[in-house]
Amino acid sequence: MPIRVLPDFLINQIAAGEVVEKPASVVKELVENSLDAGADQIVVDVIDGGRTLISVIDNGCGMSREDLARSISRHATSKLPSDDLLDINFMGFRGEALPSIASVSDMTIDTCNGADSNGWCLNCESGDIRPSNWEDGTRIRVQNLFAKTPARLKFLRADKAELISVLDVIKRLAMARPDVGFTLNNKWRFPKNQEMSERIVAVMGDDVRGRMLEINANSSSNNTLTLRGFISEPTLRRASSVDQYLFVNGRPVKDKVLVGALRAAYMDVMHAREFPLCALYLTLDPRSVDVNVSPAKTEVHFLEPSHVRAFIIKSLRETLAGTLNDRVGIIQSNIASKAVSQNMNFNKSDFRVCTPHIGPDSAFMFEAIAKKNWGAEKQEEIKESLADEFLPLGHVIGQIGNKYILAQSGENLVIVDQHAAHERITYEHLRKNSIKVQPLLTPIVVSLRPEDIAAVLSISDEINKSGLHIDTFGDDAIAIFEKPADWDLNWADLFHSIADEVREYGHSSQLGERLHLKLANYACHHSVRAGQKLDFAQMDALLRDIENTSRAGECNHGRPVYKIIPLTEIDGWFERI
Ligand code: ADP
Ligand code: MG
Repeated sequence: MPIRVLPDFLINQIAAGEVVEKPASVVKELVENSLDAGADQIVVDVIDGGRTLISVIDNGCGMSREDLARSISRHATSKLPSDDLLDINFMGFRGEALPSIASVSDMTIDTCNGADSNGWCLNCESGDIRPSNWEDGTRIRVQNLFAKTPARLKFLRADKAELISVLDVIKRLAMARPDVGFTLNNKWRFPKNQEMSERIVAVMGDDVRGRMLEINANSSSNNTLTLRGFISEPTLRRASSVDQYLFVNGRPVKDKVLVGALRAAYMDVMHAREFPLCALYLTLDPRSVDVNVSPAKTEVHFLEPSHVRAFIIKSLRETLAGTLNDRVGIIQSNIASKAVSQNMNFNKSDFRVCTPHIGPDSAFMFEAIAKKNWGAEKQEEIKESLADEFLPLGHVIGQIGNKYILAQSGENLVIVDQHAAHERITYEHLRKNSIKVQPLLTPIVVSLRPEDIAAVLSISDEINKSGLHIDTFGDDAIAIFEKPADWDLNWADLFHSIADEVREYGHSSQLGERLHLKLANYACHHSVRAGQKLDFAQMDALLRDIENTSRAGECNHGRPVYKIIPLTEIDGWFERI
């Protein structure tokens, strides 16, 4: 077969395969162009989820007649004035979007750049340019998307689902640019020049008002690296990552380094299957980040990913620590630096001073430090002198209101919510030990469409790990051969939800979420209630259990488990200092 050079229209359609996946990607490219054109008012309308019409109108700089003609040529861009790919200050730069979209739709562009006496209208199909009475900025109308590539058309989801994806794109850009006004279908409006905190409420919903913590951090080792924005208190979370808005140098991204750092920062205070909300803006020297990774540009490559990760985790933890009892990370580094700076000469009062809020983890931390720095004999000696500190929640003094346990730990008064404490203990215990797998004599057979079966089986390893052993059963069913003993769910519903999520996100959190709900519910109903009288032995046992339980700072609903009040604070009440 002879080799041939492909004609332009095919090259464009192939490129469109990467850039234009669905209506939301068209909206993203067009609105990014409007932002690059300096618009501060952008109006988007979509009909039938975008398959009949996508219209984007902006009040940006517009184009001259010559630029309008060039704009739909491949690799034609006004955004790379020099030849330096690392010096990118606009959202676009590939010059691919307009020719790609034009190749898979009927597109017209009306534009006026103010310099010409009238506007111009380009019919992208014929290449005709005529004078138009368009007066300000640019309007792009994309009709009959994918009509020329029916294979693509088949992959579009229901109109409503496509509209939701479009809304998601607008929300991400609205978070990137609170100074710009956005309107979608005259229904969703984000007015221009909104305060950041107001825009967050407009985008994420009313329940976040007053529950987001502000971050404003500069790296101490790299003065171009900064992180600002808002993150949710640990008690505010979502079942998916919808409300995680991440930006690198103003560009919305879905980047593994950032998502991983976010997860790590919340690890101690949030279930791994739950998602904190955030609007985080990372800025750094454009030369230390490569945005040229994927055509949709949602991934980036950092020159020093581990440095960026460490900076984000540290900044988030510091902000979270301000609101939590659980100051573990900070206490840890304080003790460590103290021990090092004192040349390992340990002294009991220093331990106290540098851990004003002794938490359940201090004992473990201390042990790790001691092992590293001191011989066995010295370790014992120190341990003895610190006997109290190894019971971080201290000795029981009594119970009040049949609800709270009072204890004394060193120079601190400790108040423990008995129900929250027990709930966390039961939950963590169940999480570790609950999966007793039961083989089924007759497998449970669930009928599913072949595409759902394929989606579910693509994560079968993960499903098997949760104790559910499944396999195909003919062409149109899945059979369950083993399951956790006390699991009786609506299986068809579970597998449909898993299949939907896998198709949407490539993975599914359904099993984890349902497991969490089940355990949390069980833990709640099998825990010591508020209002129950406890004797000293029971209270002591509860405190010792909590000290050995992970994530003990909060119950699994996110309420605090204990509070520690230093004696010095009490002295303050009585004006003794
Ligand atoms: P890129 O954005 O990567 O440059 P596009 O194909 O998206 O490539 O756009 C090509 C060019 O058309 C842009 O560089 C810009 O000069 C011009 N352009 C596109 N949309 C607009 C707009 N809304 N307002 C003004 N100019 C635009
Ligand atoms: Mg563009």
